[in-house]
Amino acid sequence: MSATDDTLRANQIYSLTFSHKHLSRSPERKLAVLACMDARIDVELILGLRVGDANVLRNAGALVTEDILRSLILSHHLLGMEEVMIVAHTGCGMLSFKDEELKARLHDMTGAAVVSPQSFGAFANLEESVLDQIQKVRSHPWLNGLTSVRGFIYDVETGRLREVMEQSPALSYDLPPLDTALEEIS
Ligand code: ZN
Repeated sequence: MSATDDTLRANQIYSLTFSHKHLSRSPERKLAVLACMDARIDVELILGLRVGDANVLRNAGALVTEDILRSLILSHHLLGMEEVMIVAHTGCGMLSFKDEELKARLHDMTGAAVVSPQSFGAFANLEESVLDQIQKVRSHPWLNGLTSVRGFIYDVETGRLREVMEQSPALSYDLPPLDTALEEIS
């Protein structure tokens, strides 16, 4: 059995108790989340989202690419999405290589030159990358109706998010500890 076969079996079981038939196509919380594809991040779980709440977009590095812009514009204008969260994370694989070296290695390994992907988007600084992605969304003329575009780094060792603030990449804001957060809610 392959991993794919395992998932098909799991889906058969899932469908037996399926209860999301009446969900809307539009995200209930008017939210889109762009997160890295890293397997350690369960986007819905770490953000307390339920199915139907948000448009969740993922790629390597949580990068605002042509295709992510396409999805965000559709989400905003056709599905009513108003807020964007960008979720990068510690230990991201995109910090571990350089585009040109990887391209050269793949070229050597396969003997083939390719036109696509033009870039893998590797980056050397996580905070700077998050700020770049925020800027790409904010500066798009078809996304200037968004009410909020914020960026975060998820710590894969603690499960906590911290916000990357635009004013100073070096100083990022740590979200309050859970007990404080719970006191504020109550
Ligand atoms: Zn990553």
